[in-house]
Amino acid sequence: MKCSSTIFKLVTDAWMRRSIPWTAEGKVRQCEGCGEKHFVCPECRGLLTRVNITNVRVMRAKCPNCDYEDARIKAWLEEMRG
Ligand SMILES: [Zn+2]
Ligand SMILES: [Zn+2]
Repeated sequence: MKCSSTIFKLVTDAWMRRSIPWTAEGKVRQCEGCGEKHFVCPECRGLLTRVNITNVRVMRAKCPNCDYEDARIKAWLEEMRG
């Protein structure tokens, strides 16, 4: 199910920053509706990927809005997926 909320507030999550180092190097926004966290694309400022450490399958390294691919996220995902 896709969330239809359009309100995303900027959040700082110390636990997430420790667990997922690249989230500390950018911005993370949290959905006001469902609480889902998203990493902000450094190129277009859109939402690049969901951030969900318990379900890395839903995460992606390429921005769906501008096609920017983040090398840090890509390497991290490859490591997490084994
Ligand atoms: Zn939501
Ligand atoms: Zn983008």
